[in-house]
Amino acid sequence: MENGFRFADDLGPFKIVHIHRPAVGLKAVVAIDNVACGPALGGVRMAPDVSAEEAFRLARAMTLKNAAAGLAHGGGKAVIYGDPKMPPAEKERLIRAFATAIADFGDYIPGPDMGTDERAMAWIKDETGRALGLPRELGGIPLDEIGATGFGLAVAIDVAAQRIGLDLKGARVAVQGFGSVGRHAARCLADKGAVLVAASDSQGMIADPRGLDIAALTELKAAGRPLTALAGARAQAPEAVIDVACDVWIPAARPDVITAANVGRLDTRLVAQGANIPCTAEAEAALAARGVLVLPDFIANAGGVIFAATEFQHGTETQAFSTIAEKIRANTQSVLDRAARSNELPRAAAVALALARVRRAAEVRRWGPRPVRRPTALD
Ligand code: NAD
Repeated sequence: MENGFRFADDLGPFKIVHIHRPAVGLKAVVAIDNVACGPALGGVRMAPDVSAEEAFRLARAMTLKNAAAGLAHGGGKAVIYGDPKMPPAEKERLIRAFATAIADFGDYIPGPDMGTDERAMAWIKDETGRALGLPRELGGIPLDEIGATGFGLAVAIDVAAQRIGLDLKGARVAVQGFGSVGRHAARCLADKGAVLVAASDSQGMIADPRGLDIAALTELKAAGRPLTALAGARAQAPEAVIDVACDVWIPAARPDVITAANVGRLDTRLVAQGANIPCTAEAEAALAARGVLVLPDFIANAGGVIFAATEFQHGTETQAFSTIAEKIRANTQSVLDRAARSNELPRAAAVALALARVRRAAEVRRWGPRPVRRPTALD
């Protein structure tokens, strides 16, 4: 491609902006992949080492996620180069300088990502007038606290369970990563009668076929203690959660945890991806070949982004939860219908669904392939 990106195509990137302000020590890149559906929404990451191409790929993932969720937003991502653990005053100065530099990028709405939080979003809102994931005091609703993504994951699991004839009452659930996504998913599934038979965090795994006490585990984590501190629990290595026989396996920790090398150990009927890209493409294909249904990440874990978009439109918490339920239910159904109809993996069906939405939006806005009319900054 003429812009040097191996992954660039007819959808994007719309623009990549490098920001360099040596006087304040600011180096950053903003990747706006596609704005056909609306202004790009995506996190601001602070990290020492993310290339512009990687920022673009993360922005593309947001284009797909936002379009699949049916949001009026395209996908973007920004990276501020730096150590996220830098002293707070220096971090505020750098983030405010970044915000000033993107103040007139009306087609990019920043949100929190690795290395930035709601305070950082407050600084950005202060400088630009727009940001998602704000503190409560500024009209934000803390989505990790209320569990928007875990709630949405449970909705997707409910739809998928019906497809495979799995009754959630008594269904055995194993969660890798008992953090904000994992623990809220476990809680919402328990409300539907499921039983948490195993849970892990970075320090260990505990299992009990009779069911673990989710409230007790949540209290332990809130107190900063590991799951393995649960009274009477037998601690095992974190990876052992892959070996626990269950009906629903939820990766909610890190990328690439299931690969061709360990996929054979999973003994489950449904994998619901809370984490982003937790399974490699080979592992997803191997699971499908064994008849295990895999719910792709950007369909199943879109609760957070749907919530954030509702917050941006000044919606209430109640509206946000009902929008998540409605959209994730409909999208999971569409993806599973399409996958069954065309005999393709759910991920391929999800990508096709998202791309079709982006292309339809582009056509409506007359950015269709012919006649060629390049979008301008005024679009
Ligand atoms: P979190 O930090 O609240 O929780 C992550 C949990 O995973 C922690 O309990 C941690 O101890 C555990 N963990 C880390 N390494 C582990 C390992 N090797 N084995 C087992 N557990 C391990 O993070 P989160 O917000 O719950 O996010 C989890 C994943 O979901 C991330 O990949 C994130 O990108 C993705 N995600 C989060 C949201 C959201 O709304 N928070 C939305 C979409 C996707």
